[in-house]
Amino acid sequence: MIYVPSRMGQLNRRALLRQLQKLGVASRADLAKALGMSQPTAGKIVDELLAVEVLEETDVPENNNNGGESVLRGRPGRMLRLNQSQSRLLAIQLGMHETTVAGLAFGVSDIDEWHFAFSVPKTEADQAKAWEKQLKLAAQKIGGKDFLGVLLSVPGIVDESANRVLFSPNLHWTEKTDLAALVKRVWDIPVMLVQEERALALGHHLANPESDDFLLVDFGDGVGGAIIVDGKPFANPLPISGEIGHTPVLGNQRKCGCGATGCMETLVSLRGLLESFSSAQNGKKATWADLKEFIACNGLPLWLAESLDAAAVSIAGALNVLGLRRVIITGSLTELPPVVPAHLSKAIQNGSMWAKFGSVECVAAPRRRTAGLVATGIDRLVVPDSKKNDFVASKITRRRLAPLRVES
Ligand SMILES: [Zn+2]
Repeated sequence: MIYVPSRMGQLNRRALLRQLQKLGVASRADLAKALGMSQPTAGKIVDELLAVEVLEETDVPENNNNGGESVLRGRPGRMLRLNQSQSRLLAIQLGMHETTVAGLAFGVSDIDEWHFAFSVPKTEADQAKAWEKQLKLAAQKIGGKDFLGVLLSVPGIVDESANRVLFSPNLHWTEKTDLAALVKRVWDIPVMLVQEERALALGHHLANPESDDFLLVDFGDGVGGAIIVDGKPFANPLPISGEIGHTPVLGNQRKCGCGATGCMETLVSLRGLLESFSSAQNGKKATWADLKEFIACNGLPLWLAESLDAAAVSIAGALNVLGLRRVIITGSLTELPPVVPAHLSKAIQNGSMWAKFGSVECVAAPRRRTAGLVATGIDRLVVPDSKKNDFVASKITRRRLAPLRVES
Protein backbone atom coordinates (compact mmCIF):
# COMPACT_ATOMS: atom_id res chain seq x y z
CA MET A 1 0.00 0.00 0.00
CA ILE A 2 1.34 3.43 -0.87
CA TYR A 3 1.08 5.99 1.87
CA VAL A 4 -0.71 8.98 0.34
CA PRO A 5 -1.97 11.05 3.22
CA SER A 6 -4.18 14.05 2.68
CA ARG A 7 -2.72 17.49 3.27
CA MET A 8 -4.86 17.85 6.38
CA GLY A 9 -3.61 14.51 7.66
CA GLN A 10 -0.01 15.61 7.12
CA LEU A 11 -0.58 18.92 8.91
CA ASN A 12 -2.11 17.08 11.87
CA ARG A 13 0.79 14.66 12.02
CA ARG A 14 3.29 17.48 11.78
CA ALA A 15 1.55 19.44 14.53
CA LEU A 16 1.50 16.38 16.77
CA LEU A 17 5.20 15.66 16.18
CA ARG A 18 6.11 19.30 16.78
CA GLN A 19 4.13 19.26 20.03
CA LEU A 20 5.98 16.14 21.19
CA GLN A 21 9.30 17.75 20.27
CA LYS A 22 8.35 20.61 22.58
CA LEU A 23 6.87 18.54 25.42
CA GLY A 24 9.36 15.68 25.36
CA VAL A 25 6.92 13.18 26.84
CA ALA A 26 3.12 13.28 26.66
CA SER A 27 0.08 11.04 26.85
CA ARG A 28 -2.41 10.62 24.00
CA ALA A 29 -4.87 12.74 25.98
CA ASP A 30 -2.26 15.50 26.55
CA LEU A 31 -1.59 15.66 22.82
CA ALA A 32 -5.24 15.73 21.82
CA LYS A 33 -5.89 18.53 24.30
CA ALA A 34 -2.84 20.61 23.36
CA LEU A 35 -3.64 20.37 19.65
CA GLY A 36 -7.41 20.77 19.91
CA MET A 37 -7.94 17.43 18.17
CA SER A 38 -10.46 14.80 19.12
CA GLN A 39 -8.98 11.91 21.10
CA PRO A 40 -9.76 9.38 18.30
CA THR A 41 -7.98 11.58 15.70
CA ALA A 42 -4.90 12.06 17.88
CA GLY A 43 -4.98 8.36 18.84
CA LYS A 44 -5.08 7.30 15.19
CA ILE A 45 -2.09 9.46 14.29
CA VAL A 46 -0.19 8.17 17.32
CA ASP A 47 -0.88 4.55 16.32
CA GLU A 48 0.35 5.20 12.77
CA LEU A 49 3.52 6.89 13.99
CA LEU A 50 4.15 4.10 16.52
CA ALA A 51 3.77 1.52 13.74
CA VAL A 52 6.51 3.18 11.68
CA GLU A 53 8.66 3.67 14.81
CA VAL A 54 8.78 7.46 14.65
CA LEU A 55 7.27 7.45 18.15
CA GLU A 56 7.81 5.04 21.00
CA GLU A 57 5.98 4.30 24.21
CA THR A 58 7.74 4.84 27.47
CA ASP A 59 7.09 3.70 30.99
CA VAL A 60 7.20 7.11 32.62
CA PRO A 61 4.18 7.16 34.94
CA GLU A 62 1.71 10.02 34.49
CA ASN A 63 2.14 10.98 38.12
CA ASN A 64 4.08 9.67 41.04
CA ASN A 65 1.04 8.99 43.26
CA ASN A 66 0.49 5.67 41.55
CA GLY A 67 4.00 4.46 42.31
CA GLY A 68 4.88 1.97 39.60
CA GLU A 69 1.25 0.95 39.17
CA SER A 70 0.41 3.03 36.10
CA VAL A 71 3.09 1.16 34.15
CA LEU A 72 1.27 -2.07 34.73
CA ARG A 73 -2.13 -0.79 33.65
CA GLY A 74 -1.14 -1.00 30.02
CA ARG A 75 -1.60 1.40 27.15
CA PRO A 76 -3.83 4.11 28.58
CA GLY A 77 -1.23 5.02 31.24
CA ARG A 78 1.74 4.81 28.90
CA MET A 79 3.42 7.92 27.70
CA LEU A 80 4.73 8.75 24.26
CA ARG A 81 7.90 10.32 23.04
CA LEU A 82 9.86 10.62 19.81
CA ASN A 83 11.88 7.46 19.23
CA GLN A 84 15.16 7.75 21.12
CA SER A 85 16.25 4.14 20.66
CA GLN A 86 17.27 4.16 17.03
CA SER A 87 19.31 6.56 14.92
CA ARG A 88 17.18 7.01 11.83
CA LEU A 89 18.59 10.23 10.41
CA LEU A 90 22.13 10.95 9.38
CA ALA A 91 23.32 14.50 9.97
CA ILE A 92 26.36 15.97 8.25
CA GLN A 93 27.66 19.44 8.96
CA LEU A 94 29.91 20.79 6.25
CA GLY A 95 32.00 23.57 7.77
CA MET A 96 34.77 25.71 6.38
CA HIS A 97 37.52 23.69 8.11
CA GLU A 98 35.81 20.58 9.40
CA THR A 99 32.97 18.21 8.54
CA THR A 100 31.14 16.50 11.39
CA VAL A 101 28.80 13.53 11.15
CA ALA A 102 26.25 12.00 13.53
CA GLY A 103 23.48 9.42 13.46
CA LEU A 104 20.45 11.02 15.11
CA ALA A 105 17.29 9.65 16.65
CA PHE A 106 14.00 11.51 16.14
CA GLY A 107 14.06 12.13 19.90
CA VAL A 108 17.47 13.82 19.80
CA SER A 109 18.69 15.80 22.80
CA ASP A 110 18.87 19.53 22.23
CA ILE A 111 22.63 19.67 22.83
CA ASP A 112 24.78 19.21 19.74
CA GLU A 113 26.70 15.95 19.72
CA TRP A 114 28.75 14.87 16.71
CA HIS A 115 30.19 11.36 16.50
CA PHE A 116 32.76 11.74 13.80
CA ALA A 117 34.82 14.57 12.36
CA PHE A 118 37.26 14.98 9.48
CA SER A 119 38.83 17.75 7.48
CA VAL A 120 39.95 18.08 3.90
CA PRO A 121 43.35 19.76 3.51
CA LYS A 122 43.23 23.05 1.58
CA THR A 123 46.04 21.70 -0.59
CA GLU A 124 43.75 19.09 -2.19
CA ALA A 125 43.21 20.18 -5.79
CA ASP A 126 39.80 18.52 -6.06
CA GLN A 127 37.98 19.40 -2.83
CA ALA A 128 34.78 17.59 -3.82
CA LYS A 129 36.59 14.36 -4.58
CA ALA A 130 38.64 14.53 -1.38
CA TRP A 131 35.48 15.22 0.63
CA GLU A 132 33.68 12.25 -0.94
CA LYS A 133 36.63 10.00 -0.08
CA GLN A 134 36.50 11.09 3.57
CA LEU A 135 32.72 10.56 3.66
CA LYS A 136 33.20 6.99 2.43
CA LEU A 137 35.62 6.35 5.30
CA ALA A 138 33.04 7.83 7.71
CA ALA A 139 30.36 5.58 6.23
CA GLN A 140 32.46 2.50 6.94
CA LYS A 141 32.52 3.46 10.62
CA ILE A 142 28.97 4.73 10.93
CA GLY A 143 27.15 2.27 8.66
CA GLY A 144 23.89 3.39 7.21
CA LYS A 145 21.38 0.70 6.54
CA ASP A 146 18.85 2.04 9.03
CA PHE A 147 18.97 5.68 8.02
CA LEU A 148 15.92 7.14 6.30
CA GLY A 149 17.72 10.16 4.94
CA VAL A 150 20.65 12.50 5.21
CA LEU A 151 20.38 16.10 6.43
CA LEU A 152 23.32 18.08 5.18
CA SER A 153 23.97 21.41 6.89
CA VAL A 154 25.79 23.75 4.51
CA PRO A 155 26.91 27.38 4.65
CA GLY A 156 26.17 30.01 2.04
CA ILE A 157 23.16 30.80 -0.11
CA VAL A 158 21.24 27.56 -0.35
CA ASP A 159 18.17 26.85 -2.47
CA GLU A 160 16.70 24.19 -0.22
CA SER A 161 13.83 23.35 -2.56
CA ALA A 162 16.25 22.76 -5.45
CA ASN A 163 18.75 21.08 -3.10
CA ARG A 164 21.62 23.23 -4.40
CA VAL A 165 24.20 25.63 -3.04
CA LEU A 166 23.90 28.77 -5.17
CA PHE A 167 26.79 30.74 -3.70
CA SER A 168 29.23 30.00 -0.90
CA PRO A 169 31.70 32.77 -0.01
CA ASN A 170 33.89 30.47 2.10
CA LEU A 171 33.46 27.15 0.25
CA HIS A 172 33.24 28.02 -3.43
CA TRP A 173 33.73 24.40 -4.51
CA THR A 174 30.26 23.54 -3.20
CA GLU A 175 28.70 25.84 -5.84
CA LYS A 176 29.94 23.67 -8.67
CA THR A 177 29.23 20.37 -6.93
CA ASP A 178 25.94 18.50 -6.77
CA LEU A 179 26.42 17.80 -3.06
CA ALA A 180 23.19 15.81 -2.75
CA ALA A 181 24.24 13.48 -5.59
CA LEU A 182 27.72 13.16 -4.09
CA VAL A 183 26.39 12.16 -0.65
CA LYS A 184 23.88 9.82 -2.29
CA ARG A 185 26.79 7.92 -3.86
CA VAL A 186 27.97 7.21 -0.30
CA TRP A 187 24.57 6.63 1.35
CA ASP A 188 21.90 5.71 -1.18
CA ILE A 189 19.02 7.44 0.61
CA PRO A 190 17.34 10.84 0.19
CA VAL A 191 19.70 13.73 0.87
CA MET A 192 18.43 17.17 1.89
CA LEU A 193 20.48 20.33 2.05
CA VAL A 194 19.69 22.65 4.95
CA GLN A 195 21.14 26.15 5.19
CA GLU A 196 23.27 26.08 8.35
CA GLU A 197 21.88 29.11 10.17
CA ARG A 198 18.33 28.02 9.39
CA ALA A 199 19.09 24.72 11.17
CA LEU A 200 20.42 26.66 14.17
CA ALA A 201 17.33 28.85 14.30
CA LEU A 202 14.95 25.86 14.14
CA GLY A 203 16.94 24.12 16.89
CA HIS A 204 16.83 27.22 19.07
CA HIS A 205 13.10 27.56 18.58
CA LEU A 206 12.51 23.93 19.58
CA ALA A 207 14.45 24.41 22.80
CA ASN A 208 12.64 27.72 23.47
CA PRO A 209 9.14 27.26 22.05
CA GLU A 210 7.89 30.39 23.84
CA SER A 211 10.31 32.45 21.74
CA ASP A 212 8.38 32.71 18.48
CA ASP A 213 10.00 35.69 16.73
CA PHE A 214 13.72 36.29 16.56
CA LEU A 215 16.79 36.95 14.50
CA LEU A 216 19.57 34.44 15.18
CA VAL A 217 23.09 35.55 14.34
CA ASP A 218 25.85 32.96 14.37
CA PHE A 219 29.52 33.94 14.61
CA GLY A 220 32.11 31.42 13.46
CA ASP A 221 34.05 30.91 10.23
CA GLY A 222 31.64 33.46 8.78
CA VAL A 223 28.75 35.49 10.17
CA GLY A 224 25.25 34.51 9.14
CA GLY A 225 21.72 34.87 10.35
CA ALA A 226 18.30 33.29 10.18
CA ILE A 227 14.90 34.70 10.96
CA ILE A 228 12.01 32.98 12.71
CA VAL A 229 8.62 34.68 12.54
CA ASP A 230 5.53 33.19 14.19
CA GLY A 231 7.57 30.10 15.00
CA LYS A 232 8.47 29.46 11.35
CA PRO A 233 11.40 30.33 9.11
CA PHE A 234 10.76 33.73 7.55
CA ALA A 235 9.20 33.27 4.11
CA ASN A 236 11.01 35.43 1.58
CA PRO A 237 10.80 35.38 -2.22
CA LEU A 238 14.47 34.60 -2.93
CA PRO A 239 16.39 31.67 -1.45
CA ILE A 240 18.51 34.16 0.50
CA SER A 241 17.96 35.72 3.91
CA GLY A 242 19.87 36.60 7.04
CA GLU A 243 23.09 37.33 5.09
CA ILE A 244 24.03 39.93 7.62
CA GLY A 245 27.78 39.18 7.52
CA HIS A 246 28.11 40.62 4.02
CA THR A 247 26.95 44.12 4.90
CA PRO A 248 29.80 46.49 3.98
CA VAL A 249 31.46 48.42 6.80
CA LEU A 250 32.64 51.86 5.68
CA GLY A 251 36.41 52.23 5.83
CA ASN A 252 37.04 48.48 6.14
CA GLN A 253 39.47 47.43 3.42
CA ARG A 254 39.50 43.68 4.01
CA LYS A 255 38.63 41.44 1.08
CA CYS A 256 35.78 39.02 1.68
CA GLY A 257 35.26 35.52 0.26
CA CYS A 258 32.12 36.81 -1.46
CA GLY A 259 34.24 39.01 -3.74
CA ALA A 260 33.41 42.31 -2.06
CA THR A 261 35.61 44.54 0.06
CA GLY A 262 34.77 45.54 3.63
CA CYS A 263 32.13 42.96 4.63
CA MET A 264 31.28 42.90 8.33
CA GLU A 265 32.27 39.23 8.65
CA THR A 266 35.89 40.03 7.72
CA LEU A 267 36.02 41.87 11.07
CA VAL A 268 34.06 39.58 13.42
CA SER A 269 34.46 36.05 12.04
CA LEU A 270 36.97 33.89 13.91
CA ARG A 271 39.61 34.67 11.31
CA GLY A 272 38.76 38.38 11.26
CA LEU A 273 39.00 38.72 15.05
CA LEU A 274 42.35 36.94 15.15
CA GLU A 275 43.67 39.05 12.30
CA SER A 276 42.75 42.27 14.14
CA PHE A 277 44.15 40.94 17.43
CA SER A 278 47.39 39.99 15.75
CA SER A 279 47.86 43.37 14.09
CA ALA A 280 47.07 45.14 17.39
CA GLN A 281 49.97 43.11 18.83
CA ASN A 282 52.35 44.27 16.11
CA GLY A 283 51.78 41.19 13.98
CA LYS A 284 52.44 38.64 16.73
CA LYS A 285 50.65 35.40 15.84
CA ALA A 286 47.76 34.80 18.24
CA THR A 287 45.32 32.00 19.00
CA TRP A 288 41.69 32.07 20.12
CA ALA A 289 42.81 31.16 23.66
CA ASP A 290 45.24 34.12 23.64
CA LEU A 291 42.41 36.45 22.67
CA LYS A 292 40.15 35.16 25.45
CA GLU A 293 42.90 35.61 28.00
CA PHE A 294 43.74 39.07 26.73
CA ILE A 295 40.13 40.26 27.08
CA ALA A 296 39.77 38.61 30.50
CA CYS A 297 42.85 40.50 31.76
CA ASN A 298 42.58 43.81 29.89
CA GLY A 299 38.91 44.27 29.08
CA LEU A 300 37.61 45.18 25.65
CA PRO A 301 40.27 46.58 23.29
CA LEU A 302 39.22 49.47 21.06
CA TRP A 303 39.56 47.49 17.80
CA LEU A 304 37.15 44.87 19.15
CA ALA A 305 34.65 47.44 20.42
CA GLU A 306 34.65 49.03 16.94
CA SER A 307 34.21 45.65 15.21
CA LEU A 308 31.31 44.79 17.50
CA ASP A 309 29.76 48.20 16.82
CA ALA A 310 29.95 47.46 13.08
CA ALA A 311 28.23 44.09 13.60
CA ALA A 312 25.59 45.78 15.76
CA VAL A 313 24.79 48.31 13.03
CA SER A 314 23.78 45.52 10.60
CA ILE A 315 21.89 43.62 13.27
CA ALA A 316 19.98 46.69 14.49
CA GLY A 317 19.21 47.56 10.87
CA ALA A 318 17.71 44.12 10.36
CA LEU A 319 15.58 44.47 13.53
CA ASN A 320 14.29 47.87 12.41
CA VAL A 321 13.38 46.57 8.95
CA LEU A 322 11.91 43.22 9.96
CA GLY A 323 10.01 44.38 13.04
CA LEU A 324 11.76 42.10 15.53
CA ARG A 325 12.89 42.78 19.07
CA ARG A 326 14.82 39.63 19.97
CA VAL A 327 18.33 38.66 18.87
CA ILE A 328 19.91 35.28 19.60
CA ILE A 329 23.70 35.18 19.38
CA THR A 330 25.39 31.79 18.89
CA GLY A 331 28.93 30.64 18.17
CA SER A 332 32.36 32.03 18.87
CA LEU A 333 31.40 35.42 20.36
CA THR A 334 29.51 33.63 23.14
CA GLU A 335 32.78 31.90 24.15
CA LEU A 336 34.53 35.19 24.82
CA PRO A 337 34.34 36.93 28.25
CA PRO A 338 30.88 38.41 29.07
CA VAL A 339 32.07 41.95 28.31
CA VAL A 340 32.00 41.00 24.59
CA PRO A 341 28.36 39.90 24.22
CA ALA A 342 27.40 42.70 26.65
CA HIS A 343 29.00 45.35 24.42
CA LEU A 344 27.35 43.89 21.32
CA SER A 345 23.98 43.84 23.07
CA LYS A 346 24.29 47.48 24.13
CA ALA A 347 25.33 48.55 20.64
CA ILE A 348 22.34 46.71 19.12
CA GLN A 349 20.01 48.51 21.55
CA ASN A 350 21.54 51.84 20.53
CA GLY A 351 20.69 51.22 16.88
CA SER A 352 17.28 49.72 17.39
CA MET A 353 14.19 51.94 17.15
CA TRP A 354 12.13 49.61 19.33
CA ALA A 355 14.61 50.12 22.21
CA LYS A 356 13.74 53.86 22.26
CA PHE A 357 10.39 53.06 23.85
CA GLY A 358 10.19 49.27 24.26
CA SER A 359 12.65 46.54 25.12
CA VAL A 360 15.07 44.76 22.81
CA GLU A 361 16.54 41.49 23.97
CA CYS A 362 19.92 40.10 22.99
CA VAL A 363 20.57 36.60 24.30
CA ALA A 364 23.61 34.34 23.97
CA ALA A 365 22.68 30.70 23.35
CA PRO A 366 24.38 27.41 22.49
CA ARG A 367 24.27 26.06 18.95
CA ARG A 368 21.49 23.49 18.59
CA ARG A 369 22.15 22.44 15.03
CA THR A 370 21.35 18.73 15.38
CA ALA A 371 17.94 19.46 16.93
CA GLY A 372 17.21 21.80 14.01
CA LEU A 373 18.28 19.18 11.49
CA VAL A 374 16.02 16.57 13.09
CA ALA A 375 13.11 19.02 12.97
CA THR A 376 13.80 19.51 9.27
CA GLY A 377 14.05 15.74 8.78
CA ILE A 378 10.67 15.24 10.42
CA ASP A 379 9.06 17.97 8.32
CA ARG A 380 10.60 17.01 5.00
CA LEU A 381 11.06 13.23 5.25
CA VAL A 382 8.48 11.88 7.67
CA VAL A 383 5.57 14.25 7.08
CA PRO A 384 6.44 16.11 3.88
CA ASP A 385 4.19 18.81 2.54
CA SER A 386 4.44 17.91 -1.13
CA LYS A 387 3.66 14.61 -2.81
CA LYS A 388 7.14 14.50 -4.27
CA ASN A 389 8.73 13.43 -1.00
CA ASP A 390 6.14 10.91 0.11
CA PHE A 391 8.37 8.03 -0.91
CA VAL A 392 10.14 7.98 2.43
CA ALA A 393 6.98 7.45 4.41
CA SER A 394 6.00 4.71 2.00
CA LYS A 395 9.47 3.20 2.35
CA ILE A 396 9.09 2.98 6.13
CA THR A 397 5.67 1.47 5.65
CA ARG A 398 6.92 -1.19 3.28
CA ARG A 399 9.83 -2.03 5.51
CA ARG A 400 7.72 -2.40 8.64
CA LEU A 401 4.83 -4.04 6.75
CA ALA A 402 2.55 -1.85 8.78
CA PRO A 403 -0.10 -0.60 6.39
CA LEU A 404 -1.21 2.97 6.92
CA ARG A 405 -4.73 3.89 6.06
CA VAL A 406 -5.22 5.87 2.87
CA GLU A 407 -7.11 9.01 3.68
CA SER A 408 -9.46 10.79 1.34
ZN1 LIG B 1 31.26 39.34 1.85
